[in-house]
Amino acid sequence: MIDQITYSAEILAFLKRHHYRQVVPKAALIDMDGTLYDSMKNHTASWYRLMTEAGIKCTRDEFYLYEGRTGASTINYLIQRELGREATQEEKENLYKKKTVYFNQLPPVEPMQGAREMVEVFKEVGMQRVLVTGSGQNSLLSRISTDFPGLFSDELKVTSRDVQHGKPHPEPFIRAMQLAHVTPSQSIVVENAPLGVEAGDRAGAFTVGVTTGPIPREEMIKAGAAIVFDSMPEFVRALPTLLLSLLTVTIDD
Ligand code: CA
Repeated sequence: MIDQITYSAEILAFLKRHHYRQVVPKAALIDMDGTLYDSMKNHTASWYRLMTEAGIKCTRDEFYLYEGRTGASTINYLIQRELGREATQEEKENLYKKKTVYFNQLPPVEPMQGAREMVEVFKEVGMQRVLVTGSGQNSLLSRISTDFPGLFSDELKVTSRDVQHGKPHPEPFIRAMQLAHVTPSQSIVVENAPLGVEAGDRAGAFTVGVTTGPIPREEMIKAGAAIVFDSMPEFVRALPTLLLSLLTVTIDD
């Protein structure tokens, strides 16, 4: 009978892998860049300009793969790779500041098509919403309450300033679960990037990958996504059914 439930194969595979009996969705832990905002083009463009000007060899597309890391960690990674040494604290701060300036010079970022509707579904079914981002850039964080009115509260936010370890470390999502007073099996993570998916899965949450850029779905599956949708509108259409199926599919002892 259970096979007739939509997404039951994905849900059962997730439950078995994490040794859970059931997922009871109480909180949605939602990434910002590339999930709520169509901001990755601007991020990759400003990273590429910054690093090229600093004489550090890189390609524009590689920055899609670092999505979810903190700025300091991306800077350190590239300086290690290209110059063979650790980045200094000063370099990390100065380069990240400059990156923010370049980002803000680009055309304004728009909310991702369908993102508001996605958060509204979580609200309508009575789930808490926690924003979980590796970013510390105020330009976007300050717009959340305008672009997503009534959907996020100031208390339920985890940014790069609240954690020691950024994604793919599970700390940001564990912190979010603590803020919402939920357990991992009561949490759904929404992510668009492999490192974020990895963090969500390592934190024990049912992690949804939504491909909103050039990253192929296989990368999300490899990183531990319980299920992948090929666009935000597709995810929004599927979300009510997915939530109902989660409440229906259980593993009996
Ligand atoms: Ca992201």
